[in-house]
Amino acid sequence: MTTQTHAILNTALLSRQYKPFLHSYACVGAVLPDLPIFLFFAIETFILNTPQREIWDSRYFMEAWQAFFDIFNAVPLILILLGIAYYLLQSERLTVLAWSMLIHCAFDFLTHHDDGHHHFFPISDFIFESPISYWDRDHHAEIVGPIERLVMLAASIYLFPRLKFRLARWSLVILNVLFLGSYVLRYLLR
Ligand SMILES: [Zn+2]
Repeated sequence: MTTQTHAILNTALLSRQYKPFLHSYACVGAVLPDLPIFLFFAIETFILNTPQREIWDSRYFMEAWQAFFDIFNAVPLILILLGIAYYLLQSERLTVLAWSMLIHCAFDFLTHHDDGHHHFFPISDFIFESPISYWDRDHHAEIVGPIERLVMLAASIYLFPRLKFRLARWSLVILNVLFLGSYVLRYLLR
């Protein structure tokens, strides 16, 4: 799934009415697994000046980069983090963050066909090939795409009144306008 859907959906799922301070931890946990991809893109594009084609056709698949991505998407490592947060530190904030990372991994497990991560890094090389993909039209993206956007919209409507800061509310609206708007525009201009 796209990063913005992860962020909004996880924050909605982990939201508790009287603990609005947890929203930011749920949001950070939802974004963390995708963070290494953004760093990879920034380093390759702006520091190494690698052409865009090469970035996605070959650099992306380099073992070192793949391991870097896997670390943030590894269920065993996230479970260790969850254990430390819950039992050792007894930190509600960090526990919510770890849960959010796990939920991200669960949704990615279901929505990546041939571009999934090593879910059980470093224990196993297994990668699940889901029959559906959120972006690949060869694997039902024309159905999954609109569903993802509707899920994001529903999560946003649920979350909006629970957000306490104006900046968070505005971010929610802007993300929806951009993500849904671009999709509708692309559909109309086809
Ligand atoms: Zn992801």
